[in-house]
Amino acid sequence: MIRVVKVLIDGATNDLTFTYSVPDGVSVQPGQRVRVPLRNRKSIGTVTDVESIDPASLKYSLKPIDGTVSDDPFLTPGLIELAHWIAGFYLASVEAVFRTMLPKPSRGEAEKRKTEKHVMLAVSKGDIDFEQFSGRLAKQGDVLRELREVESISLARMTGELGFSRSSIKSLEEKGLVRLTEKIVTRDPLAEMEYVESAALKLNDEQAICLKEVLASSERVSRGEKVKPILLYGVTGSGKTEVYLQAIEKTIEEGKGAIVLVPEIALTPQTADRFKQRFAKIQDEVAILHSNLSEGERHDEWRKVLDQKARIVIGARSAIFSPITNLGLIVVDEEHENSYKQDIVPRYQARDIAVVRAHLEKCPVLLGSATPSLESWQNSEAGKYDLVTMRQRIDDRKLPLIRIIDMRQEARRQQSGPAILSLKLREAIEKRLENGEQTILFLNRRGFAKNILCPECGYVANCRHCTTTMTLHRKDDRLICHICGFSQLPPRRCPECDSRSILNAGYGTERVEEVLRKVFETARITRVDTDAMRKKNQLRDTLSAFKAKKIDILIGTQMIAKGLHFPNVTLVGILNADVGLHIPDFRAGERTFQLLTQVAGRAGRGELEGEVIVQTYTPHHPSIQFARHHDFEGFAEQELMMRRQFSHPPFVHVALITVRSVHQERAEFTLKTLHARMKHAIPDDIVLTEPLPSPLVKSHDQWRFQILLKSPQARKMARHIHEVMKSLTFPDDVIVTVDVDPYSLG
Ligand code: ADP
Ligand code: ZN
Ligand code: ZN
Repeated sequence: MIRVVKVLIDGATNDLTFTYSVPDGVSVQPGQRVRVPLRNRKSIGTVTDVESIDPASLKYSLKPIDGTVSDDPFLTPGLIELAHWIAGFYLASVEAVFRTMLPKPSRGEAEKRKTEKHVMLAVSKGDIDFEQFSGRLAKQGDVLRELREVESISLARMTGELGFSRSSIKSLEEKGLVRLTEKIVTRDPLAEMEYVESAALKLNDEQAICLKEVLASSERVSRGEKVKPILLYGVTGSGKTEVYLQAIEKTIEEGKGAIVLVPEIALTPQTADRFKQRFAKIQDEVAILHSNLSEGERHDEWRKVLDQKARIVIGARSAIFSPITNLGLIVVDEEHENSYKQDIVPRYQARDIAVVRAHLEKCPVLLGSATPSLESWQNSEAGKYDLVTMRQRIDDRKLPLIRIIDMRQEARRQQSGPAILSLKLREAIEKRLENGEQTILFLNRRGFAKNILCPECGYVANCRHCTTTMTLHRKDDRLICHICGFSQLPPRRCPECDSRSILNAGYGTERVEEVLRKVFETARITRVDTDAMRKKNQLRDTLSAFKAKKIDILIGTQMIAKGLHFPNVTLVGILNADVGLHIPDFRAGERTFQLLTQVAGRAGRGELEGEVIVQTYTPHHPSIQFARHHDFEGFAEQELMMRRQFSHPPFVHVALITVRSVHQERAEFTLKTLHARMKHAIPDDIVLTEPLPSPLVKSHDQWRFQILLKSPQARKMARHIHEVMKSLTFPDDVIVTVDVDPYSLG
C-alpha cells in the first residue's frame, strides 16, 4: 500500500483535485498546504483527502508532492467540510472558500512569519569560566552574565537598550560560547495593554434564564442530542454581552473554545476591551480579529488560534473561519447586521455560516439582537430556532423617550437653507450642555453637501464613472464619488450654463459639525466618520475622551451607531431618519427600523434617563412609528405580513444574477441570452424576473443589468443556476456574478 493525497490546486475554479503520492517519512494530513508539480510547473494546493491505495491498482504512475508548506494543517476537518457546504450554497469554487479561510501570509510557498535575531548561550552556564573574562574582556563577561538566567534576548535589545556592542557578541560567537538564532515573533497590537480583570456580574432573572438555556443546550449537545440555534431578543441595554461573557466562561472551563462574531462597525476598542478585561487572567488566549490589523498582525492572531494558544476569538465576519478544533460555542452579536454578508466571492453570510458550522461541529449557537433580522425572527416563529427574550434594561432603567420632529414644518419655520437642527433638538442640546451631560448626534451621510446643483438650469454634479451624484467634501475641497472614489475640484460656475449661483444640496456630517460649532460656540464637539478618523488609534482615543467627558457632543455616522456604552449620554439626536428609507429595496424599512432602535439605544444607559429626538420628513412611516414605541414585535408582524404577500425573504431565497461590462450592449445582450436559457432550463416553481437594468446602472465605468430568481429552496435553485452557468461561455469583457441571499439589490 502507498499513501496518496488529493490536492486542490490554488486558483482552481472547477473543484477538481489531483492525486499525488507522499514520500516515505513525510507526514501529511487533510487541510495541509503542499507544494506539488503540475504540468512541469511548481504549484501550491490544499490537501483535501489522504488515502492508502494499492499501487497495483494504478494505471499510471503518480508524481510525489514536492513538500509541505508547514508541518501542520491550516484547515481543520470541520472547516474543509464547511467550505464544501459554502461552495454549494453560494455558487463559489471550493478553492475560493479555502482562500477566504486563510490569512494571506499563510498562502504562499512558505508561511510568512516575522522573525528576529536572538542571542543565547551556546554552552550550559556551569561550563563558563567567568574568571577569564576580566580586564579587556570584561564586557564579554557582562554579556554572558546577562544571558545566564534567560533563554535568549533579542539582538536588537542587547545592542540597544542593554548597551552591549556587536563586537563583543561576535567575539563570543566565534569562541562558540553564544549563538544567534532566528526567533518567531508575534505581532500583537494589544500586547502592551494591561487589562484589569472585571469580575462576572450577578445576573438578573432574565439574564439567568437566558444563560441557563445556553448551558442546557451545551449539555444536550455533549450528550449527542440535536439542538436548535438560540435567538436572544434583548432590548438595548438589557445586558446581552454579560450573558455572552458568562456563557463563554463556562465553555472555557469545559476546555472548549468559543467564537464571538461582532459586526465590524461594532468592533470598537470598547467591545474588544470588555472581552480582554473579563478574561484578563488568560488575556493571551483571546484573539481579536478586526480590519484595522495589518496582514501580519492578522496572521499572528490566527496562528495563535491554530496553535491552540488562543481559545476565544472575537472578530468580524471572517472570524467564523477561525481554526478552533474543539468548538464549544458560537455567539453572533447584533445578528441582524448587514455587514455579516460578504459582497465579494464567496458571498457568504457569516451569521448563517455560524448556524451551519455549529450544526456540523455540534455546538450551540447563540444569535443576539435588540432588533432581530426578519430571517431569524421568522425561524423562531416557525420553531426552527429557540427564542429567549430580555425585555428589561439592566436595573430596570427605562428605554429612552423618543420624540418625532416633523421637519416639513421645521423647514417652513426656518426658511433659510436646509433645516439641520430643529428648535426642539437645539434646546435639548443646550440643556445637556448646561447640565454637563453628553449628546450623540447621528447622520448616516458623510461629507459636507450631498451634491451640488445649479438652480438656473438643473445641472447636478454626477460621477463620470457611475450613475450617481458626487458628494462635496469641504475640507479637501473635492467632489467625491462614494461609490468609486473618483474625485474632482468642485466647479465654481455651472459647467452647463456658466451661472455662478451653484448650490450645495443636502447635508452631511461635515456640514453638521460646522453648524454645531456656530450654534454652540463653547461646546467641545468631535466628528466621528471615516474622513475624520483616518489615523490609527484615533477612534480609540476619541471614544476614550468621550468616556472621560472631555467631549460634549459627538456627531457621527454608522461608526457611533452600534454597541457603544456611555452612561452619561442622555440625549441622542437622529438628524435625518429618512436617509436610506426611500431606496428601492424591500429591506429599506427594516434597516431604518433597526438603525433608529440601535441609535436610540445609546441614550439613557446610566443612572440618568435618556431622550431621543428623531428628525424626519415622513413622521408617519411605520418604521419610524414602531421604533418610536420600541415595538419590535409589532414591526416584525406587519413587515412579515408584507414580505409574505409579495414573496420576499424570509419566505423565499433570492439569487441575484448581475451582468457587468464596459460595453452597455454586450452586458444587455449577455443577460438576455442567459435569461432565455434560464427560462428554458429552470422548473416552473422557481420564479424568474425579466431582465432589467440594475438600480445603479453604471458603476466604476461598468454597465450593469440583472435578473432575480426566487424559490423557497435555496440549494435546489443554486444547483439549477450552476447547471445553466456551466453550459454557457461568456465573452471576456463581460462579468457575470451570482449572489445568493443578496443584501443589496444592486
Ligand atoms: P446590551 O448588549 O444588551 O445592549 P450590555 O451588555 O452592554 O447591554 O449591558 C449594559 C450595561 O449593563 C453594561 O454596563 C453592563 O456592564 C451592565 N450590566 C449587564 N448585566 C448586569 C448585571 N447583571 N448587573 C449589573 N450590571 C449589569
Ligand atoms: Zn446651470
Ligand atoms: Zn463613481
